[in-house]
Amino acid sequence: MISQETKQRILDATRIEDVIGDFVSLKKRGANHIGCCPFHNEKTPSFYVSPSKGIFKCFGCGESGDAVSFLMKHEHYTYPEALKWLAQKYNITIEEEQLTEEQQQRRDMRDSLFHVSEFAEKYFVETMMDTEIGQAVGLGYFHERGLSDEIIKKFGLGYSPDEWRAFTDYALKNGYSKEVLEKTGLTIFKDDGKMYDRFRGRVTFPIYSVSGRVLGFSCRILSKEKQAAKYVNSPDSDIYNKGHILYGLFQAKNAISRANKCYLVEGNLDVISMHQSGVENTVAPCGTSFTIDQVRLIKRYTPNVTIVFDSDAAGINATHKAANLLFSEGMKVRCVLFPDGDDPDSFAQRNGSTALQEYLAQHEENFILYKARITSEEIKRDPIRKSELVGKIVDSIALVPDLIERSDYIQQCASLFATPEQTLANNVAKAIALHKQQEWKLQQQQASGAQTDQPSADSQPQSDAAGPVVPVVQAPRQDEFKSLNPAEAQERNLIGVLIRFGDSNINWTYTNIEGKEVTELMPVASVIVSTVLSAKLSFANPLYQKVFDQCLEALKQEKIITATQFAASDDAEVRDLAISLMVQPYEVSERWLTDKGIATPSEQQRLPSDVRDSLLHFRLKKVESEMDACLQQLKTEPDEDMRMALVQRFGQLQKVKKAIGQDLRIVITAR
Ligand SMILES: [Zn+2]
Repeated sequence: MISQETKQRILDATRIEDVIGDFVSLKKRGANHIGCCPFHNEKTPSFYVSPSKGIFKCFGCGESGDAVSFLMKHEHYTYPEALKWLAQKYNITIEEEQLTEEQQQRRDMRDSLFHVSEFAEKYFVETMMDTEIGQAVGLGYFHERGLSDEIIKKFGLGYSPDEWRAFTDYALKNGYSKEVLEKTGLTIFKDDGKMYDRFRGRVTFPIYSVSGRVLGFSCRILSKEKQAAKYVNSPDSDIYNKGHILYGLFQAKNAISRANKCYLVEGNLDVISMHQSGVENTVAPCGTSFTIDQVRLIKRYTPNVTIVFDSDAAGINATHKAANLLFSEGMKVRCVLFPDGDDPDSFAQRNGSTALQEYLAQHEENFILYKARITSEEIKRDPIRKSELVGKIVDSIALVPDLIERSDYIQQCASLFATPEQTLANNVAKAIALHKQQEWKLQQQQASGAQTDQPSADSQPQSDAAGPVVPVVQAPRQDEFKSLNPAEAQERNLIGVLIRFGDSNINWTYTNIEGKEVTELMPVASVIVSTVLSAKLSFANPLYQKVFDQCLEALKQEKIITATQFAASDDAEVRDLAISLMVQPYEVSERWLTDKGIATPSEQQRLPSDVRDSLLHFRLKKVESEMDACLQQLKTEPDEDMRMALVQRFGQLQKVKKAIGQDLRIVITAR
């Protein structure tokens, strides 16, 4: 917990060109510094650092942010780690905030959970390496699977003896409490007071955090007992949440960044085999089906994922689910299938490292083209199902964010299926519209206060049995501004003005309660917040609503959150949004300055009319959206009374729409 004050001191001391200069060789050009981008390969520099704005932007790959986010992206630090790095660089002592008793207790508990997990890891390793039974059973098992001692050490593999409470007794003797043993799940407690080791008689695979701390264990049974599960994992705890962790990421992260690519395999042993075969950029979901949080973890290091799953029915099914999740986050997806019955581990054991690397290189294919190939084979076998099968691939193509890539797929599939290209293109367009509509509905539901749990990867809405998994997109991706629906675009535009110019003062004319026209010098934040509130409007996108609410809260305390403060927010989502909104106008003015030698009319001068226009369009779009929804519902609504009510509402909205247009033009004028 770094105090707000210390945080501000660190940010004030930070000079972005200094920080980035530690990693990238920069040259001064005009007001900026430029260099070769560290996030993509390039020979001519397109990476700009602006000391005055405190931000960087790559015009080649689009990466952007401030000094803190540079460290987070480049060094894979967490937010507090990045702050600590900066504090060290600028010799600032970190003053920690006084914790409440509850926070302190929670923190002590987390510390204890980390300690006991690390203690357990050491115990399991020593039991395997230093005891006769450990060497014979545990180490013997790993050697039999072809693992070298070096790789066994790298992954912290160990052995938990087949005794009821060998570990529990040892831990208690070393002063660890029953509470921490129970919370980490290392010991199972029964109602009658009996306790025993959860992982007894198993080889142990510690699960590490990104920075290498032990969070939990995944343990494989060695005996042939039929009723026992093959793998037992730690239960979720204060430090371990299986949906947020990837097995092997700690060991793989640097390789993933270097290769700009990540292999996704099914199991722990697949990860380890791949590493041992020299393919170190490999991770696996942790005893769970692949989740959207895990996709986002990978996305911190690379947008390119190659799925390597078994080619049995379950494996193919898992591949499709994983691919759709990856697409929904804008990732590029490829896949490799092994011959039936083989996985990377068994393949490497039989054929060796070089053969595995060659197999991966030769059999990797674009996921959509793979799916198209399989589909065309199925159509040949079963021509009656053609339209259904083509429908499935259309749904996958619709998830691809890039327009050019999409039309490539359409072209290739059209010739593969002997279907007119235009027909396929129309179907893809329909599927995209359907996805957007579903996303929008979901956002509406969330915005209207329906308190639903965060949808997890397993519980995503299914359009129908044969249809695609429709990805739930919480907030639009930042690079998708152009393809946002008009209402969403107006929301984003208004939030952009609020974030960037909230603290600028403008002359604002409005009608007060007595019906008089008043002109006042007001901060943009007050103008926007009061106008939106008095029109009883809200944002469909929960992230925008969050930013709005933060501004409102600050105004209540007579404060205004500046763009720089938003860009340094503790909330990663808010921070990313602020930064991406801040760099957009920057590009425009930069080009004007260099290409034409003249500046655009300053944004400050244009500000009052920008604010007015943004509010005007925002409100109009809200009304239009509701009108559309009314019309849609009218088409299917069977109940006569309900239809009457809808028609009435539509009429009201029409009037409101007209009134807003007129009102805003007459009452609100910018000076
Ligand atoms: Zn770049």
